[in-house]
Amino acid sequence: MIEDHAMSKDCIFCKISSGQMNTEFVYEDDQCVVFNDIHPKAKTHLLIVAKRHLPSLADAQDSDAELLSHMLLVAKNVAADKKLKGYKVQIHTGREGGQEVFHIHYHLMSPF
Ligand code: 5GP
Ligand code: ZN
Repeated sequence: MIEDHAMSKDCIFCKISSGQMNTEFVYEDDQCVVFNDIHPKAKTHLLIVAKRHLPSLADAQDSDAELLSHMLLVAKNVAADKKLKGYKVQIHTGREGGQEVFHIHYHLMSPF
C-alpha cells in the first residue's frame, strides 16, 4: 500500500497545521503555516511547517520541489515582513541531524 502523506494520525505538526490545536499562525496559505517555536532558541524563532505530512527532507522527491521552494520563499517573506536584518533558515534532517519532529519544517531564527 502506498503511504498517505496527506495527514499522519499521531503527528503534532499535522494537528497544528490543520488547525486542531488552535495555534496562532503568523502566516498561512494552502501549502504551509508559520508559528512560533514553543522553545525558542533565538529572539525570533519561527517554524515554517508544510500542511502535507512529508516526514523529512531526506524523504523529498523531485515532485516536492515546488513545496520546498515555496516554503523557503515564505521564510524570506515573513522575515521581510518582520524587517529582520539577518536570519538563518535551518532544516534538521534525521535523528542524527537533530530532527525531533518527523514532519517537514524549516526553522527561521534571528537575533532581531
Ligand atoms: P526539529 O525536529 O527541527 O529538531 O525541532 C522541532 C521543533 O519544534 C523544536 O524546536 C521544538 O521546540 C518545536 N516544537 C515541538 N513541538 C511543538 C509544539 O507543539 N508547538 C510548537 N509551537 N513548537 C513545537
Ligand atoms: Zn505530520
